[in-house]
Amino acid sequence: MSSRNRVAEVKPNPGQLCPQCQELNLLPDKFRPGAGDDTKGNLPGFLNANFDAVGLESRHLGYLEIYRRRDSCCFCWLIFEATHSKDSAQIGCDGLAGNGERVDCNLEWRLDGRDLETDGRSAGNSKSPGHPSSRRILISNPQRLFPDAYIMPLSSETSIQQFSARRIPFSRVDLDLIRYWMDTCSKKHGESCRILPKQVKGTDISGLLRYIDLKEQRLVHASDLLTKDQNAITYATLSYVWGAQKPQLTLSKSNFAKFCSGGLGPDRKDMPATIRDAMIIVQEIGIRYIWVDALCIIQDSMEDWAAIAPLMDAIFSNGTVNICAASGNTSASGISGSPLTSRSASQAIADVCGMQLAVVKSVESRIRDTIWNIRAWTFQERILSPRSIIFVDDRVFFQCSGATWSEDVYSDITARTWTLEMVESPMQNFSNNPVRLFADLVELYTPRKLTVISDKLIAFEGIASVLSSPLAATMVYGLPNSYFDWALLWENKEAGKRVTNVRPGYLFPSWSWCGWEGGAMWRLSTVASTLIDLHDWLSNHSWITWYYGDEGRLKLVRESSTQDLQARSRWSGYDFSSEDPYGRNRQLLASEFGIDASKPTLPTTEPVNGCLHFCSYTAHFQLSRRSMSTPTFESKLEKGLRRFGIVDSQGDWCGTIILNEEWSSSVGGIFEFVAVSEARDFSMEELDTWNYYVAEERHIAEWYIYYALLITRNENTMVAERVGLAKIYKNAFRDASFDPGTKWTEIILG
Ligand SMILES: [Zn+2]
Ligand SMILES: [Zn+2]
Repeated sequence: MSSRNRVAEVKPNPGQLCPQCQELNLLPDKFRPGAGDDTKGNLPGFLNANFDAVGLESRHLGYLEIYRRRDSCCFCWLIFEATHSKDSAQIGCDGLAGNGERVDCNLEWRLDGRDLETDGRSAGNSKSPGHPSSRRILISNPQRLFPDAYIMPLSSETSIQQFSARRIPFSRVDLDLIRYWMDTCSKKHGESCRILPKQVKGTDISGLLRYIDLKEQRLVHASDLLTKDQNAITYATLSYVWGAQKPQLTLSKSNFAKFCSGGLGPDRKDMPATIRDAMIIVQEIGIRYIWVDALCIIQDSMEDWAAIAPLMDAIFSNGTVNICAASGNTSASGISGSPLTSRSASQAIADVCGMQLAVVKSVESRIRDTIWNIRAWTFQERILSPRSIIFVDDRVFFQCSGATWSEDVYSDITARTWTLEMVESPMQNFSNNPVRLFADLVELYTPRKLTVISDKLIAFEGIASVLSSPLAATMVYGLPNSYFDWALLWENKEAGKRVTNVRPGYLFPSWSWCGWEGGAMWRLSTVASTLIDLHDWLSNHSWITWYYGDEGRLKLVRESSTQDLQARSRWSGYDFSSEDPYGRNRQLLASEFGIDASKPTLPTTEPVNGCLHFCSYTAHFQLSRRSMSTPTFESKLEKGLRRFGIVDSQGDWCGTIILNEEWSSSVGGIFEFVAVSEARDFSMEELDTWNYYVAEERHIAEWYIYYALLITRNENTMVAERVGLAKIYKNAFRDASFDPGTKWTEIILG
């Protein structure tokens, strides 16, 4: 760490506030709207006429000012503690980030705490279930130079208040609290947190699995246990980082027989500290079996790896709880706060205006930059496990599909609560709007690091298989075939290179996110109009009959299905009531948007593995710097990306596309675009001045645009590669293409 980042320790100055913090008008009422007010019944406090709203507006604070005043103002001291951690090397004492940018600091009041239990027996002041019952202060940075943090009142030991901060033990976590969380989840959360033993791909996995029996300290086979007890075995899993070296002790062919008879427990000297600590925690919370990759897969047996690797999703989703050792960088790090590895859990607490206020950070904030979190495999382990106990940053958290509970916040007094801790939680019920969840998970997953980049698809397979059933889909290279036209509208979220070296002579396809390094997303400004009624859009605004090459054969991406769909909603996939494999009415398509129904849709080319084969219109346009949105509506794009204009053969702007910045050197070039589906309109950040390409007023014109892929072709193989996703006027596509003009073409997209 450089010297500019060395920060002197400063104690808070009780009661003193600088002029800027005085303006915040910090009163207990602000944190607890409606507290103690019996006459207002169900009306939340912030709606009361006599509520003092002065100081509730959001504001920008300079980081440097806070840094300077932290010894004289107790609230500035708290904000400093909230924004600065010993690892936040990104911010210097000069208030500048590593890149010289001024670190900004925003302060915002946030409503918090909905008690979702309706029996009225809840603790705290919440008299009306479902209403936010408290408020806390969010301290954040727009560029996310430091993770979000909250400032909230500390509960007194004598009268516990729901949704307030809690004092925590300094050196070891309270195992009773973890037991209480486990118990509340299993007794009160019902179906959504219940574990239903899963079988994988039609096989019973118990024959291949083994666990560590912590009571007998030996390896046991799942199938042996199941013959004794037909109920699912209750076991825990461990999610951790191996580090550069493999753990000191692993299961091997040579010690396998020995460990089946005993000697495999936490008191072994060579037991890696993280695994040892997990074993102790698991025993303490009353679970007898644990699954740990290093000790449950024979590490020097390729056959064992090959047999168990595809079961990884079932192993994690069938476990009762997943212990996440999120802080450690190796298997020797240990789990800090567990019985054998102590921690130093200091809390930033200050006396402000007669209240004790504390800094609290959410689990997502704390794990954001950990090595554990940025790895792709651990992401899947966490998402698939029904419950996680997450150890990070000298704190412990509990997460399931029904709750996120923090050691340092009282929100676990009742079983069902909504708190700000749950924001950004990726652990959600898979049956609630699976399309949105799919898009969210791809966006969360794709930026993660893989040691072996060609694992990009395999490490997502577990999540994909869990999503398949609610999406009524088979995943084709990570895209659900029941929403295929929509799924193809993903865009790069950062300047991305193609994933190479999957195996010699083979690439993941460019048309899927798995073919690119870095993040992918469905950009709202691009796809918003499809989301109004996704089912309608798939049925009436797409036309391509998609095939793909698979093992030397040409297959439909989506076979016709007689599957009985549940109640159709705007989030449903393709319709299956018609003859067409994608449920579209081809006659209607022809009349509606000029796709000639007599054009061939069946590809004639030789199938190429992993390639999409399809027929559609292609046209040629020029890449341009011309922008049609003014700075008012232009949104800041992610690093390395740039919005380009598209110009037709008459020299008119006819569309837009976001590409890697390096495409700047190709401006002026003519490129090939293939129309793939229909878009309703441009968003304001794509076009904010109506230019009469369409002979109607903007507010009545709709469906006048094509989604089109910018493609480049390999001269030798004629296999095309997707470069980016454009939106282009249909009129331009029909009438104003550069040579060789608009054509109905067969495309092989690799
Ligand atoms: Zn201050
Ligand atoms: Zn639960």
